[in-house]
Amino acid sequence: AEWAAAVAAVRSVPADGRVLLICHVNPDGDALGSMLGFGLALRRLGVRRLQATFPGPPEVPDTLRGLPGEELLVPAAEAYPDPDLVVCFDAASESRLGELVDRLATAGTALVLDHHASNTRFGAVNLVDPCAAATSVVVDELLTRLGVPLDAGIAECLYVALTTDTGSFRFEATTPAVHHLAARLLATGIRPGDISRRIFDTRPFGAVRLFGEVLGRARLEPAAAGGRGLVWTYATLDDLARHGQRPYVLEALIDSVRCTAEADVSCVVKQTSPDEWAVSLRSKGAVDVSRVAVALGGGGHRFAAGFTGRGGAEQVVDAIRDQLDAALIDVRR
Ligand code: 5GP
Ligand code: MN
Ligand code: MN
Repeated sequence: AEWAAAVAAVRSVPADGRVLLICHVNPDGDALGSMLGFGLALRRLGVRRLQATFPGPPEVPDTLRGLPGEELLVPAAEAYPDPDLVVCFDAASESRLGELVDRLATAGTALVLDHHASNTRFGAVNLVDPCAAATSVVVDELLTRLGVPLDAGIAECLYVALTTDTGSFRFEATTPAVHHLAARLLATGIRPGDISRRIFDTRPFGAVRLFGEVLGRARLEPAAAGGRGLVWTYATLDDLARHGQRPYVLEALIDSVRCTAEADVSCVVKQTSPDEWAVSLRSKGAVDVSRVAVALGGGGHRFAAGFTGRGGAEQVVDAIRDQLDAALIDVRR
């Protein structure tokens, strides 16, 4: 029923109607790739008045620049104030939409596409599949139902999204359906080697040195998570300034920290303003880190979650430590 309503919502946009695509703050590959891939498909359907945006500074991480469809991007301040249709990508709740949250009310219809189990279903129509490995899986299904065939542009966007959220097909969510979608995307002729190098394996030398410094101060607490170990580090605005780096380069840092064999839970605390920290949490399975994140005002998935912390880095980690035991997954069940 929701699929039919979503198809109807897209199809009922008038010929000169305005469509606004939005995704979560600090967009990652899934948020941006799903949004721009869907935007390219809407253009193929003949939608001409089309914008894509996200809250906060209109800055796309270097690694995500050059995606097909990026010409659809406009700063949030310039986005249609009252579009006929708003489509929201990869956001579990309205709080992830920042200043764009008002569009849910001013738009003719609000369509939500997402895969977070914690999604609050804040749209008029909600396509939320917690079993989907990425929002792009939901986008692909909707495109099939809309009768839009994949082309190389759409496919590159959806491939970036799919590889981002599956850790390049390494995470548990990598089902046969994921590989089947990847096969259909690759069949359009996109180049996975080039795309992966650009998205995952490219960073400025200053960021390499910054990572070295921040990893050098990581701490391992063997007893923190029910005896399963917690590893964490932090990065300050001063660290970024000294190495001449933008905040988004730190998004890949958690992938180095979570390698730690002695820890089940990993954490990176990234300063975003003097009193505010963006926190990334990862689990290898013993702890449901989305419970930790939700308890501290954030959200996410079982094994990858985040929240906004306040105070100092030590205080933020104290708050996490306090939540770990309650978030232990009872494997006897
Ligand atoms: P990351 O650590 O890569 O920034 O985020 C991991 C996951 O946690 C993402 O799937 C994202 O949805 C969720 N997440 C990260 N930060 C926040 C936050 O501040 N609030 C909420 N609700 N979810 C977050
Ligand atoms: Mn995301
Ligand atoms: Mn996602």
